[in-house]
Amino acid sequence: MTHLAATATLIATTPAQPTLPGWAVLAVLALALPLTYAMVCAATPFGACRHCHGVGKTLKPNGHLKRWCHRCDGTGLRLRWGRRLFNYLRQLHRAGTR
Ligand SMILES: [Zn+2]
Repeated sequence: MTHLAATATLIATTPAQPTLPGWAVLAVLALALPLTYAMVCAATPFGACRHCHGVGKTLKPNGHLKRWCHRCDGTGLRLRWGRRLFNYLRQLHRAGTR
């Protein structure tokens, strides 16, 4: 009869990889996502109109103009809400510091 302690062998273990705790990952995401959206709003303040999908008009089935988009006035563009918020805050700051 063999004892369990007699069969135990030493297993070479690799050193533990340094891992970020979950709260650190969430903190990085909570900072990175708004900054990324702010950069997108600064680089391209206009997005495609959701009503006409950036076309600016609706077409008849034969391809002719049906009507111009009433939401974007035919431009196919809309101001992103982040840029709208930035414009509002900038206007508020200017009005308060004059
Ligand atoms: Zn539109």
